[in-house]
Amino acid sequence: MPENALAVAATDNYEIGSRMATQSMATSGNRLNLVGQPQDRLEAFFAQLGEKPFRARQVMQWIHQRGADRFDVMTDLSTQLRARLAEVAEIRLPNVISEQVSTDGTVKWLFESGAGQAVESVFIPEPGRGTLCISSQVGCALDCAFCATGAQGFNRNLAAAEIIGQVCHANRNLPRRPGNEEAVTNVVFMGMGEPLANYRNLLPALDLLISDLAYGLSRRRVTVSTSGIVPHIDRLGDDFNVSLAVSLHAPDNDLRDRLVPINRVHPIEQLLPACWRYAEKRSNRFITFEYVMLKDVNDSLACADRLAGLLLNHPAKINLIPFNPFPGSDFSRSSPDAIGRFQDRLRRRGVIATTRRTRGDDIGAACGQLAGKVSDRVRTRLSEKNKGIVTA
Ligand code: SAH
Ligand code: SF4
Repeated sequence: MPENALAVAATDNYEIGSRMATQSMATSGNRLNLVGQPQDRLEAFFAQLGEKPFRARQVMQWIHQRGADRFDVMTDLSTQLRARLAEVAEIRLPNVISEQVSTDGTVKWLFESGAGQAVESVFIPEPGRGTLCISSQVGCALDCAFCATGAQGFNRNLAAAEIIGQVCHANRNLPRRPGNEEAVTNVVFMGMGEPLANYRNLLPALDLLISDLAYGLSRRRVTVSTSGIVPHIDRLGDDFNVSLAVSLHAPDNDLRDRLVPINRVHPIEQLLPACWRYAEKRSNRFITFEYVMLKDVNDSLACADRLAGLLLNHPAKINLIPFNPFPGSDFSRSSPDAIGRFQDRLRRRGVIATTRRTRGDDIGAACGQLAGKVSDRVRTRLSEKNKGIVTA
């Protein structure tokens, strides 16, 4: 990636550039889409209509908990208010293009995101919980060397309604759990895009995820995964303090500069202190470090030793992710033996380490395989992008 694109990607300017594109999901014509509005904004909207704040709370519950897709089903609002709302507001969820179900029960949805493009979400059912992996951007500008989304380039940020709409759609379409609980019990921002590069729309989506009037998830059950946009890690710690996962993938700057190019803007010696500050703000709950296992690139025992050296004595756990190949990728997955030895070495050095089980790879739903349909409007990819990364 050219350095200037990286610098832009790491600042708020990047968000301003795509503000126009996200407007369309927030409003169409003069009607405000209520799906992405958190409580304070919805209360302000009802105040403008001359209505009491509790109307906002009723409408939130109708949309996010009671599956309403029209105002006329909201029977505890007066007929006049329902008619007024239909004139000035709407309830618009992203359109679904396809749904695929894996042999292991994983479900992948493709959502339309305008101009022939699409983003993906993946639902992973497990005993005792249902995790929804959601997208935050159409593509991604950060161009990590091993990522299918990065390979597609960046088009625009998703609006808050498009982010939370993925959760809304999943709960409306999946069977409820025993005890009549909603299907989605955990949400991870590990689909397409870099959530901290779309901070403006991430915040209302997080607000709705944890609000008792919408999804009511505990902060522990909502995980933002980032490749390391340091200033926004600090902001998130102050604003929402949900669980944090950091895509580390390399134990030193030389290798990380090549695998995760945003490292050239926010290197490891800035990233890790930001993680420890974040952990302190949330009573030292652990930060998860994701580490994709790339054969002969970052999977040596020397790498494990250096990694343990960085994280030991900090509130950190490592999640090893076997690399998931995609068409055109230049890497191979480390062997199960190599992953096992790497994990053992970390554990022997005193670091908590687990290996992520690959789910949904038969439908292209595994980590890093999500590619949706994106037309890049930010840059031209470097033709020799990965040259020199494979060391063996
Ligand atoms: N942009 C954020 C969140 C989306 S990516 C981030 O980078 O953290 C979610 C996770 O999938 C990240 O840890 C990412 O590094 C990992 N990933 C990307 N491509 C992958 C691949 N091909 N195989 C396995 N994991 C991959
Ligand atoms: Fe973007 Fe995350 Fe993929 Fe990197 S790994 S290109 S930050 S989506």
